[in-house]
Parts: sequence; C-alpha cells; structure tokens
Amino acid sequence: MMGDGNKNKRKKKKRGGAKRRMTAEQTSALKSVNEWVFMAEQSINNEGDELKEKYDDFLPESMYRARVSEKVVFELHTHSICSDGFLTPSALVEKAHQNGVKVLALTDHDTMSGIPEALEAAYRFGIKIIPGVEISSVFSTRQVVQNDLESEEPVHILAYYSSCGPARFEEFDQFLTSIRDGRFLRAKTMLSKLNNLKKPVKWENLMKIAGNGVAPGRLHVARALLEAGHVEDLKQAFDRYLYDGGPAYSKGSEPPAEEAVEMVCKTGGIAVLAHPWALKNPLPVVKRLKEAGLHGIEVYRSDGKLAVYSDYADAYGLIKLGGSDYHGRGGRAESPLGSVNLPVLSAYDFLKIARPIWCNAIRETLEQYIKDPSELNLKHITRFGIKRVTANTCEKNIINICLRLWLTSEEMQHSDFRDTMLKLTEILLH
Ligand SMILES: [Zn+2]
Ligand SMILES: [Zn+2]
Repeated sequence: MMGDGNKNKRKKKKRGGAKRRMTAEQTSALKSVNEWVFMAEQSINNEGDELKEKYDDFLPESMYRARVSEKVVFELHTHSICSDGFLTPSALVEKAHQNGVKVLALTDHDTMSGIPEALEAAYRFGIKIIPGVEISSVFSTRQVVQNDLESEEPVHILAYYSSCGPARFEEFDQFLTSIRDGRFLRAKTMLSKLNNLKKPVKWENLMKIAGNGVAPGRLHVARALLEAGHVEDLKQAFDRYLYDGGPAYSKGSEPPAEEAVEMVCKTGGIAVLAHPWALKNPLPVVKRLKEAGLHGIEVYRSDGKLAVYSDYADAYGLIKLGGSDYHGRGGRAESPLGSVNLPVLSAYDFLKIARPIWCNAIRETLEQYIKDPSELNLKHITRFGIKRVTANTCEKNIINICLRLWLTSEEMQHSDFRDTMLKLTEILLH
C-alpha cells in the first residue's frame, strides 16, 4: 500500500514537471489554512517560555516543532476498528503521520467512540484531529420518481465537528445510538436469512469479527461468510447474498438523509455527502439535501477530481471535499491513507464555512456550562480537547487549553465570544 502511494507520487511529480507557481489566491489561502492547522504551536510560541511550561503537561515537543509547511495534507474520510476499519484509532493516526497527513478526520460509521484515542495519539505526532462521524441514512425517491414508489437507497453523510464535538451532545448521541441499535437488529435478520439459505453464520462469530461493542455492518457479515467457508472472497459474499435487495440483504432502520443533515446542522457540524458516485441517481439527492442544509459534497478521490460532482457542487453552492475512505483492509484496491490531493483552496473553503459554525457550537457548549457548571457540562467542553488533566489543573486552565487548541485568538476576541468568556471567568472565580 505504501509502495503504491509512493509510486503514484513519483508519477505525479514526473507529469507535473517543474513546480508550478501558486497564484496569489492560493498563497493567501495556504497562509490562512496553515494558521489554523498550526495554531496551537503559534499561540504557545507567541506567549513565550512561561506558557510553554504550563502546556508541557499537555503537549509533546513535536507540537512546538511543527513547521508551517508549503503543503498541508488533509485526510477527511477514515475508519477504525470502532466501526468496520481494521486499525485501532492510534494505529490509524500513526499511519497518517507516516504518510504526511497534518489534519485527520476520523469518521467511523455511526459512532464517535474512537475520537478520544485518536486525539491522544495525535498529540504525540503533532496532527490535528477533526472529530467526525459517517452517518448511515436512507434517501427515499418516493416524491422524486412518481412511478417508483418503493425506491430507497443508502446515503452516507459525513459530519465534521469542533474540539467540543456536537453541541447538544445527548441528543446527537441518542440519534447515533438508535442507528447502531438498528444495525444489530439488521444483522440478526441477515443471519436468519443466511440460515434459511443453508449458509449458516454464528452470531458469536459475527460479534467476534465486528469487535467489542461494534455495531455489525454488511462488511462484517461478509467476513463471517468468508470465515465460515461459504464464499471465496468478500466480493462474492456481496455479489451472491448481501447486495442491495439480495437474498440475505436486510434494510436497516436508518433515518432519512434529510434528517441526518438537519441533525448535523443543528448540533454545530458540517454536513457533507459522502461518495456520491455510489448513488444510483445522485442529482435529486444533492438537490434535496442542499435544501436540508448540506454544506459540501465529496468530489476528490485518490484518482483526482470527478468533474460531474464538481459541477453539482458549483451548481448548488457546495464545498468540494474528499478523503480516501480508508479502512486499512490492505490490498491493491484500497487507496492509501492521505492519498487524496485536496487543493488548498478546498481546504480554505471548508475552514471558511466551518470555523464560524464551530465557533458558535463551542460558544453554545460554554454557555451550557455557564448556566450549570456541572461535571457533565465540563466534560462536554473537554471531551475532545485534552486527555491528560492532572489533578491540580483548575477548570479555567482546562477550558483555556481546550479552546486555544482550536480557536484562533481572533476568533476568541470576537465580541460574542468575549462576552461568553467574561461570564465564564466570573463563574470560575466564585
Ligand atoms: Zn460510506
Ligand atoms: Zn466511509
């Protein structure tokens, strides 16, 4: 896999010839993206050694040493063993670091349970983690195609959050939990269908493959079929039994895609349509989800930009993103981690849209704590912030460190935000 990646890179260099000069627009976008990516380092260096000492407990040396680079590699679509990936969150982060990734979004299916571990690992390597999730949903074409009443297809919505995660965390968490519960039920139905087809798979085996507490998906069932010797490879499991509408297929109880997008918007996230090329009829999906608040659409893959989806993005005013959808399966078919060449202007557009939304979500989370300074509400602030809180660290420092890792000083000095911070200081002094 690594070999493949290097080969591709070499090929690209040859094709590109001498390094092209950046336009003024690209240069200024790069400066702004760099500022956000390396802000922890900058804010620490700006404030001198005294602050550096204070942060020492929390940030490794690599964070200060990170240099503002000419190219910032974003990897915005990845999976770990917390859903159907093969690597632990820390192994994924380590691999991302080896591949030169500077900003990594962990986007497991219907769970954010891997984020804390990814963060812990990311501090060691000076990588920035965007807490993410890939939400399973369905798009019903009922109103779109009048004569196709039953048509429904799975749609995956990527959601990207700030260091505080989703605002109204409980509501969002409940939303994901019910999707995961639906997956357990669905897996049970698939196994009973396989049993009827005389291709029995044991529930315990499926659970072992999925891993501790992980909601099983079709890929896990396919692996169980392979292990039981009913198929020769994973592809055959899908081609014979598990394809949409196949003999062992079962519909899940996923929410409508519009609802997923609305939920992401409501909780301070950025909603992006994943792999539109997997959809039978993407245009109505894009159109309807834009109305629901969709911010972006995946357009870039390891093999470059896909013109048709890029045109949709232009037509509907959506940001153009993309990631490798890395699962760590291995093999030649998989795009290497960090292999999607996201242009700096796309990263810039993404952050331009996302930052004010994230800033508001953080403020909402802080306001909740101001209203009720409970342990739980403190946890909502620090959940995806810092892991190593020493016993004698006071709440004010914890909150300060969490915010500095995510918000620029400019954002923190915005009048709305300053008000919140003042109220917070008052509370913490009492
Ligand atoms: Zn997906
Ligand atoms: Zn995915």
